[in-house]
Amino acid sequence: MLAYARQIIDDDDRRAVDAVLKGDWLTTGPMVKAFEDAVASYTHAGHGVAVNTGTAALHAATWAANISAGDEVIVPAISFVASANCVLYMGGKPVFADLSPDTLNIDPSDIERKITSRTKAIISVDFTGHPADHDAIGAIAEKHGLVTIADAAHSLGGVYKGRKVGTLADMTALSFHPVKQVTTGEGGMILTRDAAIAKRIRSFRHHGIDLDLHQRSKTQSWQYDVNMLGYNYRIPDINCALGLSQLGKLDRWLDRRHQIAARYDEAFAKLPHLQLPTVRQNVVPAWHLYIIRLHTETLRVGRDKVFEALRAENIGVNVHYVPIPWMSHYASLGYERGQWPVAEDSHLRMISLPMFPGMSDSDIQDVIEAVTRVVTYYSA
Ligand SMILES: *Cc1c(COP(=O)(O)O)cnc(C)c1O
Repeated sequence: MLAYARQIIDDDDRRAVDAVLKGDWLTTGPMVKAFEDAVASYTHAGHGVAVNTGTAALHAATWAANISAGDEVIVPAISFVASANCVLYMGGKPVFADLSPDTLNIDPSDIERKITSRTKAIISVDFTGHPADHDAIGAIAEKHGLVTIADAAHSLGGVYKGRKVGTLADMTALSFHPVKQVTTGEGGMILTRDAAIAKRIRSFRHHGIDLDLHQRSKTQSWQYDVNMLGYNYRIPDINCALGLSQLGKLDRWLDRRHQIAARYDEAFAKLPHLQLPTVRQNVVPAWHLYIIRLHTETLRVGRDKVFEALRAENIGVNVHYVPIPWMSHYASLGYERGQWPVAEDSHLRMISLPMFPGMSDSDIQDVIEAVTRVVTYYSA
């Protein structure tokens, strides 16, 4: 089965990890800072604080935004569930906004409609790697005094109006899960241009302690104070060595993702049954996912049958994602279906095709042939 996403690990990566294993620091050590600095420099973000998952990065961001009980945070109706869970961690209330029909990113006009006196922040997601409309979101945030958090788990390397992902919101959260642009096994990072926020988050990831182990060993002091509640969200040096090695290959991998998207676009333009991804002007997407939407009215079957048929052809398609308010836990909190027409309709028609830089040309051809065969077969 051809997976929908997969990491690339080469000998350089293995050597980088092995060097850490032979050294003194397995966890917070020099590779953490080196990786943070490299990502901050790549994105022009200012400051990077690495943590042990993308979810921890989002938690750190909602914490740094001072979200508390009763605060509302606007979140897109379709994303990975961590984009909304991070609001619940702080006792806040996610308020789901619908999506723009072209990009499936959060719709700024629906954000405006959902703002109340309790709204504190907006979490955007650069869905599939295509940056959200950050200028529109930033303007709304400024008008209403809201914090902007960009969930950029899909979009490291993306560009919006000449500005890189990592600089488009007050705080940006990255994930380094193996399906993402670069991997550390598990890992995440918060990017911000605000040095004070970066400092607070460094403490948050380490129990609320004011100095990390590395700094203490350098100053030979036993003293530390805990002046707030933090967590252990530290990422090991082992992981950061892998991340640093991976980052050097990101631009080459992004080029390959663009080639794959271009081949899909060209091959599928002939199929009237498919709605293809849109790329807006002035945007360079990072192509984490390539999502087609089926014009099911032109087919004899629905999405699930097409999905099954593609799996039967050994194409590891997926669905990203079920709307978050449809999840049982969210239903138990009182969210009811039927309030996000674009997201809910798109969910029922979407299929993610394999998209990762390690795909061979013949893998791409296999996907194109299988999709063409299946939708033509089911054509009404
Ligand atoms: C992967 C992902 C996350 C969470 O990342 P983890 O590193 O798996 O915790 C958050 N948001 C989105 C949109 C993601 O795709």
